Order: sequence, then C-alpha cells, then structure tokens
Amino acid sequence: MGMKSDIKLIDAKGKRLDGRAIDEMRPLKIEAGVLEQADGSAYLEWGNNKVIAAVYGPRECLPRHKASPYGSTLMYRYNMAPFSVDDRKRPGRDRRSTEISKISEEALNKVVLTERFPNSMININVEVLQADAGTRCAALTAASVALADAGIPMKDMVASCAAGKAGDHIVLDLGKLEDNFGKADVPMAIVPHTGEIVLLQMDGDLSPKEFKTAMTLATKGCMMAYEEQKKALKAKYKGGGKK
Ligand code: UDP
Repeated sequence: MGMKSDIKLIDAKGKRLDGRAIDEMRPLKIEAGVLEQADGSAYLEWGNNKVIAAVYGPRECLPRHKASPYGSTLMYRYNMAPFSVDDRKRPGRDRRSTEISKISEEALNKVVLTERFPNSMININVEVLQADAGTRCAALTAASVALADAGIPMKDMVASCAAGKAGDHIVLDLGKLEDNFGKADVPMAIVPHTGEIVLLQMDGDLSPKEFKTAMTLATKGCMMAYEEQKKALKAKYKGGGKK
C-alpha cells in the first residue's frame, strides 16, 4: 500500500486494469451448506478470492475460562492456506490473522444473539484458499452466511466490502494490483438493516473528503454483498440448492 509506482491503475476512459468501472465490484458467488460435518458452512468466490467458512456450535465452551454466564463466546479464526498466495505463506497464526480474527469476531458479536446461549461457544473458522485482496471482507461475508446456515439466531447478517484509492480515484473493491499499488484501502462491514458500521479500517492515506466517498462506496458494496448472501440462503432453503 502506498508503494510508489508508475503502474497506471485507471485508464483514460475511467476503466480499471480488469476492465471494471470505478464503482463496480468483482463478481461474487456464494453457496451455503457445503460441508457435511459443520453445523453451518458457506463457500464464496469473490473475484479471485476463494474462501470457505465453517461454523460449529453453540457447544460446550473450551477452554472453560473463556465461558461467560452472559452469553455464548464467539471464536473467529481467519486462516490463510499456505498455497493461497503466490509465494507460499508460512502456515499458522501470525499478527495479521490474529488482527483479522479479532475485528471480525467483534463485528459478528454485534449481530449474533449470544445471550441466548450462556456458557457456550460458537466457533467460526474461515479458510482462505486463494487470496487476491479483500480477503477479510470475503471471509466475514462468508462467515455470516455460515452462521445463518447453522441456524444461529442473529439480528441480521453482517455484510462486508472494501473501497479504496487507485490512481486518483476512489474505487470499489480493490483488486490485488490496486491493493499493492493503490494509495489506500478501506475495508468496511455493516449491519444492512440498520446501517450500523461494525468494521471500519484504513490502510494508506486519504483526505477526509476522500474517506467519506470511500465509506459511501463501500456501503454500496456491502449492500451488493448482502444481496448475494440472501440469494445463497434462499437457494439452499427455498429449493434449488444442492442439499
Ligand atoms: N497477502 C499475501 N501474503 C500474506 C498476506 C497477504 O500475499 O501473507 C496478499 C493477499 O492477496 C491479500 C492481500 O495481500 O488478499 C491484501 O492483504 P491485506 O492484509 O490488505 O488483507 P485483505 O485485503 O486480504 O483483507
């Protein structure tokens, strides 16, 4: 991010490297209920990102000291497969995955009705199989569908999408090159029914005006992601799904 480069991210016609318009999201496809052993699951492809989310619980909280009499403990684990990036990623937790897991867990805590299941835990595991920028948003979007698929009571799903700055433009849903050579990335997640913002980060530099534009654009992206989330659940539960 913020890397100095001559690479031209937006052409004279306002098209991006992959032919997208400024406010165009990468193609997003979600399937609910793809894993037999999990209580709920989802598979998601967003551009070249591929992620799978699995939800287990509510079940007995282990380790015990994490249990709360006030509600279920959400445990979100974001993990990148070693083969998900071009240079092999060292397996296991690192600072980045710990951060992403923490903020995603906080976002989902705003919608899951955890108080219904005291002393239990709900595990949300997301594996990134292929990464191409925007994986935290892809993971969170898939995780919400997996939670719904598991029948976990929620106020709403959480929908997530990023906006950022490529060249001199504020654009929706940065691709890999835009993320590497762009000037800023603003991942966001909202509760679509209320518009409440449950995740908002910024990497890079933006003026206050640009930041506002990015937020508006990212909100639109979240709403588009939400439509796909609902489609995935309807496909499974209204017939037309695989199971
Ligand atoms: N990335 C990578 N190796 C890593 C971490 C990230 O190649 O160890 C790539 C990956 O494609 C990822 C992108 O960098 O999607 C942007 O990473 P960032 O930390 O901004 O998170 P994301 O945009 O995926 O939420």
